[in-house]
Amino acid sequence: MSRHRAHDYRHLIRRWRAVARAAGLVMRPFARSGEHRVYWLRSPRLPKTGAVYLSAGIHGDEPGATEGLVAWAEGNVRSLRARPFVIFPCLNPWGLLNNSRLNADHHDLNRQFHHDADSMIRALKQLIAGHWFSVALTLHEDYDGQGVYIYEVKRRAPFWAEDLLEIARPILPIEGRTKIDGRASRSGIVRPKINPKKFPMLPEAVWLHLHHSERTFTIETPSEFALDARIAAHAAIITECVRRSPALSTINSQPSTIPPPSAPPTS
Ligand SMILES: [Zn+2]
Repeated sequence: MSRHRAHDYRHLIRRWRAVARAAGLVMRPFARSGEHRVYWLRSPRLPKTGAVYLSAGIHGDEPGATEGLVAWAEGNVRSLRARPFVIFPCLNPWGLLNNSRLNADHHDLNRQFHHDADSMIRALKQLIAGHWFSVALTLHEDYDGQGVYIYEVKRRAPFWAEDLLEIARPILPIEGRTKIDGRASRSGIVRPKINPKKFPMLPEAVWLHLHHSERTFTIETPSEFALDARIAAHAAIITECVRRSPALSTINSQPSTIPPPSAPPTS
């Protein structure tokens, strides 16, 4: 079964090429990771506001995330045509190949968004400059996880995380821990207000919240559980977030400046 070649980056990219062909997406390399190219995909018509941002694989030891994203894409070619997307299938190919959270330089890329020292992150920021996404999902896994859980950055009510977890509940248990990485968690939801001063080492999701996205979620599946269930949980949550995002036909595609977030980032 091809889906179990979860650390085979070349195979992952072949699957994405097939998705890009089927859905009419533009797929390009934009950076390097060791000897490998890092790719992104985007809709051919990409309005400055309202697209969906999806990324996985910034931590290479979380294959349920990269596999979940490609499995979702393979099953949702029509959605990929009907809505605008920016997709990063695997931000740390070296890590995926080596089953490593870190990149080849031993950096946790998800703590590097506060500066431009890393060439991949610098290039990613240039690609999305000027874009305001309706929703951004960063897909992860947690080897301490006892179930699926979600970080939803607090900006815009009504919040979505409760509904998203209900969709995952038939697939995986919901995380029961009340503290995750030092943050209070309730019924699988961590809903922080962001104070950038408390994030000297910015993760991707916080960067997106501060500069690029109306709604920002980090989805975490428990990486000691069965891979098929983790893939299915990611795919189901992506499906629901995409369903709630605006269709291309309803987005004004005129060139526009970024609107301010509906509430200013807390400082
Ligand atoms: Zn992670």
